[in-house]
Amino acid sequence: MDYILSDRVQKVKPSPTLAVTQKATELRAAGHQIIGFGAGEPDFDTPDHIKKAGQSAIDQGKTRYTPVGGTVELKLAIQRKFKTENNLDYKLDEILVSCGGKHTIYNLIMAIINDGDEVLIPAPYWVSYPDMALLAGGKPVFIDAKIDADFKITAEQLEAHITPKTKLLIFNSPSNPTGACYSKEEMLALCKVLKKHPHVMILSDDIYEHLIYDNLTFHTIASICPELKDRTITMNGVSKAYAMTGWRIGYCGGPTPIIKAMQKIQSQSTSNPCSVSQAAATEALSGPQDFIKTNKALFQKRRDLIVNLINDCEGLNCPKPNGAFYVYPDCSALIGKKTPKGETISSDKDLSEYFLTEYHVALVLGEAFGSSPNIRISYALGEDDIIEGCKRIKEACANLR
Ligand code: PLP
Repeated sequence: MDYILSDRVQKVKPSPTLAVTQKATELRAAGHQIIGFGAGEPDFDTPDHIKKAGQSAIDQGKTRYTPVGGTVELKLAIQRKFKTENNLDYKLDEILVSCGGKHTIYNLIMAIINDGDEVLIPAPYWVSYPDMALLAGGKPVFIDAKIDADFKITAEQLEAHITPKTKLLIFNSPSNPTGACYSKEEMLALCKVLKKHPHVMILSDDIYEHLIYDNLTFHTIASICPELKDRTITMNGVSKAYAMTGWRIGYCGGPTPIIKAMQKIQSQSTSNPCSVSQAAATEALSGPQDFIKTNKALFQKRRDLIVNLINDCEGLNCPKPNGAFYVYPDCSALIGKKTPKGETISSDKDLSEYFLTEYHVALVLGEAFGSSPNIRISYALGEDDIIEGCKRIKEACANLR
């Protein structure tokens, strides 16, 4: 049977990270001990008090539909969070809760992007942004954030990429995949450009807000530049900060007409996010926050460890990022070299396949994030595994000729 699929779905690439994950799963099933540097989530469990809130929601029968855009309790918790942590005032009808941060972004793109609209995406980028833009009929336009600029775009670059067709800028700091964090001054320089172009909307993806190191302060666009608040959607979620990736709760604050449009799309697709997860997320945002501090210290220690170990590998150049839980070393010095089996490493894809097949280390190729040749290494795994994995990478690099 020949199935005729929509033109829409054919615009979307399958996630490039899936191939590595699948190969790693196969090798594991065959009994190999794989070190997984591919994870996009914290390696520990949701804190107990949050789990208990989910359990008691079930016991109390909070198992029915909720309002599409989220329960009042959760929206109030989000409103308080925005106020106390970001100095942002959002009314309840300026807040929408969705099934993960990814869903928030998807709803926004579906709600505002028309055919041919340009979506500005600094590269390296999180894998889903361009495909979501394409699904909506938009055109992703990439702005190269160079390694020597610490993977950050400049005001001049932003200005040069804005056209009358630009509809949205997607801004993500701390960043996946590079861990780059913009300073307030760097963000204000971008805001100055954006103020000149009132037709450009802004998505601020703040999902790694709480994973920022070296005593740096997190900033978000609507807060540091209130003149842009009426065209900024401030997106966040509980996945990364509270180790709640499986609960699927993301949220945003933004202008009421945009929130209403996003909610309309949500109402005709998923309806409300899971009622039990909403109760747990309410506790995450309102309960004790000491977990975040402990986490942050742990990740910072791992970051220091991994940056040193990776920089000790021949041919890898690993900048030290200030946030998230990824490093993004440049591997251009290894391109063109030959493996002990005589195969040429022509790309970061070849390199990651070599690491996985020969040394049982799984990581993600830079090609997936729109910037090559690089590899993304997640340090959301225990120190012993980090040390063992880096030892293998070092040996793998040393054996290339
Ligand atoms: N934004 C970025 C930059 C991410 O890395 C992720 C997850 O990996 C998300 C958004 C979405 O997170 P979630 O859908 O789990 O809330």
